[in-house]
Amino acid sequence: MTEPLTIAIDGPSGSGKSSVSRAVARRLGIGYLDTGAMYRALTWSCLSSGIDLTDQAAVAAFADSAGIVMGTDPEDPRVSAGGQDITAEIRGRAVTAAVSAVATNLAVRAWMRRRQRSLMDAIVEATGGVVAEGRDITTVVAPDAAVRVLLTASEEARLRRRSTELHGHADAGAVAATRDSIVRRDRDDSTVSNFTEAADGVVLLDTSDLDFEGSVNAVLRIVGARR
Ligand code: C5P
Repeated sequence: MTEPLTIAIDGPSGSGKSSVSRAVARRLGIGYLDTGAMYRALTWSCLSSGIDLTDQAAVAAFADSAGIVMGTDPEDPRVSAGGQDITAEIRGRAVTAAVSAVATNLAVRAWMRRRQRSLMDAIVEATGGVVAEGRDITTVVAPDAAVRVLLTASEEARLRRRSTELHGHADAGAVAATRDSIVRRDRDDSTVSNFTEAADGVVLLDTSDLDFEGSVNAVLRIVGARR
């Protein structure tokens, strides 16, 4: 049997880590876990159940009953909660604006760490490997992953990519409208995880000057070198 292939990819918003991670998982024929989508799903569930996000104990206690189910097929990773498909909802503005309040809750992070580890084990069991991406996968959730990559890009490149994705272009107005979802969110998120500097043994990959294909190939080269 070949060695299971666990690939951990972290990075800030707009670094391209979700699309690159999905493409890498597809190319290698293994499963995929979007841990940011788990924080988003819990945030959506709290908002729709009227749970006060500032009540940290209530949010953490709710995590078990939210019924979050993560799709792990990189072709179409759907997310549901309480039996409802919320794949589109978790990308909405309300969730993006509120998610850092949930992600900075340390009791929630402990719950997520347990759940993410067991999901990664199940995906490896089912497909022979996993690409898990987020903010603390290389450092906290899977520090012993075979391949660990920190994907970065300049703030300018990240703003340009996200505003093109959200608004179809990257003129000054679109970039300004995107700033909260990138710069403020990363500042809040970085109070609980370090995703700006590569930890020991983590490969730093700056994608500022790479296009999508170039970024995917660069990750695949790192995987090849580590195998
Ligand atoms: O990657 P994405 O933008 O979907 O992540 C949503 C949010 O989930 C981040 O802003 C962050 O607050 C949180 N997150 C986290 N740890 C992870 C993944 C995401 O705190 N491993």
